[in-house]
Amino acid sequence: MTWQVDVLTLFPEMFPGFLGYSLAGRALEDQRWSLRIHALREFGLGRHKAVDDTPFGGGAGMVIRADILDAALEATKPQDNRPILYLSPKGRLLQQTDVMRYASGQGAYFICGRYEGVDERIFQKHIIEEVSIGDYVLSGGEPAALILMDACVRLLPGVMGSDQSGVEESFSSGLLEYPHYTKPAQWHEYAVPEILLSGNHGAIASWRKEQAELATKQRRPDLWESYRGNRK
Ligand code: SAM
Repeated sequence: MTWQVDVLTLFPEMFPGFLGYSLAGRALEDQRWSLRIHALREFGLGRHKAVDDTPFGGGAGMVIRADILDAALEATKPQDNRPILYLSPKGRLLQQTDVMRYASGQGAYFICGRYEGVDERIFQKHIIEEVSIGDYVLSGGEPAALILMDACVRLLPGVMGSDQSGVEESFSSGLLEYPHYTKPAQWHEYAVPEILLSGNHGAIASWRKEQAELATKQRRPDLWESYRGNRK
């Protein structure tokens, strides 16, 4: 079944963007996933198709109106079980486990914010998950939506060359991934760790696990603590 994505945006031309290339682009051509873009502007008011207004209570910037977003959602939202996601720095911080959950579903519907964001009342009328891609502020939800889609699409069946590639990589096991090396075995004064040339698959697997644990412990103590907690 095709993984279906719908996007509601003020900048339709930003899609598929970089997802038109490489793995995701090929998967799009092969119809492993499909993309429908809905222009929020079409639901705007008046001659200028206005979608936003000034915030009540004052302050900088503009806010996307709830009635406009609602009209667009009612006209385009999924009739199946796909989640409606609003990309927002105030959302739940995206984790690989969320990506896996979205990728194993039927797809998702993305709302991309702009300006100061959207009128809060939209979350009272609709069931919308707020998702953040990190603790920093982007100028719009489009790059965040593309990033989330990229993370999901590469997990769809048949998209990655080897189904194993997704199983061992960072976060899937709760650890950061072990380091990789390729040819040449000796480069300047830098040699590949000998164990990787040994052909001893058991020893290589143990070395990689140790390295993954070490990297996680050193670089991401938060991940390391929860990995250790989950093993108890
Ligand atoms: N005033 C908002 C705040 O401080 O929370 C920021 C609005 S931002 C300039 C415009 C839009 O970019 C947001 O509505 C959201 O859709 C998107 N955006 C910005 N940062 C994001 C992030 N870290 N994750 C996901 N979406 C983000």
